Amino acid sequence: MIIGLDDTDSRDGMCTTYLMAVLVEKINAFASLKDYPLLVRLNPNIKYKTRGNAALAINIALNDKNNAAKVKELVIDTVEKMSVLSDENTNPGIVFIEIPDESMKNDISKFSLRAVRDVLEIREAKELLEQHDIDHRGFKNERGLIGALAAAGFALCGLSDHTFELIAYREKKNWGSPRIIDEGSVWAANAATYPDTWDTVDIENERIVFAPHSLDPILFGIRGKNEESVRRAFSMIGSEPIERHIVYRTNQNTDMHLIPAKIHEVQEDRSYILDGVVSKAPKTIIGGHIIFEISENGSSIECVAFEPTKGFRRIIRELREGDEVIVYGSVKDKTVNLEKIRIDRLNIQVLRNPVCCGKRMKSMGKGQGKRCEKCGAVSKEQVVEAVFRGISIGLYEVPPCARRHLAKPLIRFSYP
Ligand code: ATP
Repeated sequence: MIIGLDDTDSRDGMCTTYLMAVLVEKINAFASLKDYPLLVRLNPNIKYKTRGNAALAINIALNDKNNAAKVKELVIDTVEKMSVLSDENTNPGIVFIEIPDESMKNDISKFSLRAVRDVLEIREAKELLEQHDIDHRGFKNERGLIGALAAAGFALCGLSDHTFELIAYREKKNWGSPRIIDEGSVWAANAATYPDTWDTVDIENERIVFAPHSLDPILFGIRGKNEESVRRAFSMIGSEPIERHIVYRTNQNTDMHLIPAKIHEVQEDRSYILDGVVSKAPKTIIGGHIIFEISENGSSIECVAFEPTKGFRRIIRELREGDEVIVYGSVKDKTVNLEKIRIDRLNIQVLRNPVCCGKRMKSMGKGQGKRCEKCGAVSKEQVVEAVFRGISIGLYEVPPCARRHLAKPLIRFSYP
């Protein structure tokens, strides 16, 4: 049986990953896990999300087929008790897939990928559930069925790329108070396990980034390429007491949300990989954000590196008109919020007045040519010169402190 869950939490507490961790323990009496529990991140631009648009699923083998009803009851009961149903924006969904067939797999795998890349309606999830006779339970407006079905779909059909995250949870009495974590042990764990783990610390910005600051039960999460690495890092970290921990397989850090496209195809609230030539040079706006424009085949779009992307903006500031780039990021308000940029060609040509008698000729006015102030020589044209560029071609990313859950870090390109 595959069980998908979503939308149980609110900004004031709880977290669906925690609910799943509790459920996994409870289900142990009736079934065993066939694979790692799954934590999937869906479209990061969905306005209904509480934080990171996570959805969860498990694939279990029942100890006894007659236990199916008991397991469903247990899941529904746990969701009912632990969800923050009082929050207007909490609309839990639960999906139970029992006898999958090829046509169901085909339809759900498409739905799951769309949940990561596109914006879906509750109606679409319900139609698919009914069409394939999939048992489910929705609460309130049932929006959580979208994420629950998407997560169940990934558990059914697999992920094209995956990483792991070990999440440690706080004791309930500590929820809401400042987290106690031995910072030195975190730096040491990072030094011992990077690049098999990543985004535990942000070296350039001298910060620990693996612990949230919110009211939820998560103490910290360690991301890495396999279970062994995240467990090794975990064993080195000193902290307040941990109530429980769990290792999830996940689509985090895989770039699954990015759609390769042309600028004219772009839609709001989706994330893209777009080619273009810088058509308006970067400018810094209030708040320290940097904006520039790229164009391709007559279509243009603005791109922004927000202030929290810190040192990444140093690269963006150096771009010039004519540079050929590929941008990676989500489109909000007709602007690409940059996660990465690949600079493929730098425009090193600049038009300048010619040099004469050791000095630049001076313009004599519009359309009047240039004249040497010393010998009086006149030139009609400017000349093409090479300009020094403070950047090189290559792929650049925002620092760990500004990384979105789905964004693939460069370290995963070099050490896949
Ligand atoms: P947390 O960070 O604790 O996991 P969250 O950020 O996952 O919380 P949810 O409370 O799960 O946020 O709310 C997201 C809601 O949006 C869910 O109801 C989910 O079903 C729905 N949703 C997810 N992806 C899409 C999508 N692509 N299109 C439409 N709705 C979606």
